[in-house]
Amino acid sequence: MIDRLVAIKLNDMREELPGFEWNPVVEKEFAFDKQIELVVVRILTTIPRLENYGEEFIRVCMHDAISMKLMVFFRIPRTDRWKTTLRERIAQVMEEALRVVRCECGGLVYVQRGAYGRYEACTKCNRRRSIIPTDTIP
Ligand SMILES: [Zn+2]
Repeated sequence: MIDRLVAIKLNDMREELPGFEWNPVVEKEFAFDKQIELVVVRILTTIPRLENYGEEFIRVCMHDAISMKLMVFFRIPRTDRWKTTLRERIAQVMEEALRVVRCECGGLVYVQRGAYGRYEACTKCNRRRSIIPTDTIP
């Protein structure tokens, strides 16, 4: 089944992003940022144009707050369920953002996903550790 795509108004989206600030430095797209300790959680959406409003995904991203290196990236389809999906992803990325710690090498240790599930790894060195199963993030 193909979900029907919906036109999302920018104001609808802003209402879903309390505490996020529009970042006009990002060109060609709307970026809404919220700094959480060592990282910036960024929500990106294309500037709506009638001819392609449904084609692009909203993206929930996490960046290193200093280098702005992209660390985490999720796509939110523009279907009827976009608000629910966006809320769930933001909650998940916020929770992961609070767990990010500075590595001895200067990089950031954060949750990543691989073929064998989730683990924590550094953005710079090869430090990594598995996540204990009692953790609640799905
Ligand atoms: Zn490291």
